[in-house]
Amino acid sequence: MEVCCICKKEYRTLWTAPDGLWKKLNGGNEGGLICIGCFDRIARENGEVLYWECAEREYPLYPGKTKINSEK
Ligand SMILES: [Zn+2]
Repeated sequence: MEVCCICKKEYRTLWTAPDGLWKKLNGGNEGGLICIGCFDRIARENGEVLYWECAEREYPLYPGKTKINSEK
């Protein structure tokens, strides 16, 4: 489980955003964890329209490294 640094709620969905978009919508910070709901809200407040794509199994943490989606 991850904990969103904005709403402080736990969330289970692993997701990723392009570095530039993440930094822009995260106050210039590269790190941190934000749930999809909060990130989507911030995007709308900044005039960004996001789309979400579902996938299974391997989560692309870094190039060449993956995290299996079922890991807690
Ligand atoms: Zn949140």
